[in-house]
Amino acid sequence: MNVLVVEDERNLADAIVQILENASYNAEAAYDGRSGLRSALSGLYDAVVLDVMLPGMSGYEIVHEMRREGVSTPVLLLTARTATADKVEGLDAGADDYMTKPFEADELLARLRALTRRRGDVMLDEVAFGDITLALDTHDLTCGDSTVHLSGKEFEVMSILMSSTSRVVSKQDLLLRVWGADAEASENSVEAYVSFLRKKLSHVGSKVQITTLRMLGYRLEIFS
Ligand code: CA
Repeated sequence: MNVLVVEDERNLADAIVQILENASYNAEAAYDGRSGLRSALSGLYDAVVLDVMLPGMSGYEIVHEMRREGVSTPVLLLTARTATADKVEGLDAGADDYMTKPFEADELLARLRALTRRRGDVMLDEVAFGDITLALDTHDLTCGDSTVHLSGKEFEVMSILMSSTSRVVSKQDLLLRVWGADAEASENSVEAYVSFLRKKLSHVGSKVQITTLRMLGYRLEIFS
């Protein structure tokens, strides 16, 4: 899961990134309001930890702009302020939860878990499409009585495809979300993993196939 941290106090931002990475999230930091908004609108993140007092643009403005653009990524607002009026303003702007600084790492992680659990498209135990289910804890892909285990990257690619069934996922998007922006991986890596996944889908006898749409990317389809 990818988390964006928008916080202008670099020490705090980097500490939060570290907490998240220790808890097996992928986390990236933005240190000002404008770049935070750009990243938040990219669609690459599953949750945003957002400071309120930021140079350039406040956290309230960022979350308001995200919602106006139709981006429903869960947002956890961070602020040093404790006044109830601020909390109401943040939630009114479209934030999902609110946490006052200073906070404990455990509280941050608990609130993030609660936020991402609440989302419709991030299931707790498994995701399903057509005749297949993918267990999020064991990484097992099941069709009827057949089960096959997915490797880490296979699992990440498959879970993105399965939670985006209504739209096409580009190679570039998969590359960024699974391998990260600065990895050595290329679109060939994406193609290789899609090919592994096709073999595994066929191995369990699924009617689900990963269709390549030229110049666009991939989509799951059900063939009978
Ligand atoms: Ca700040």
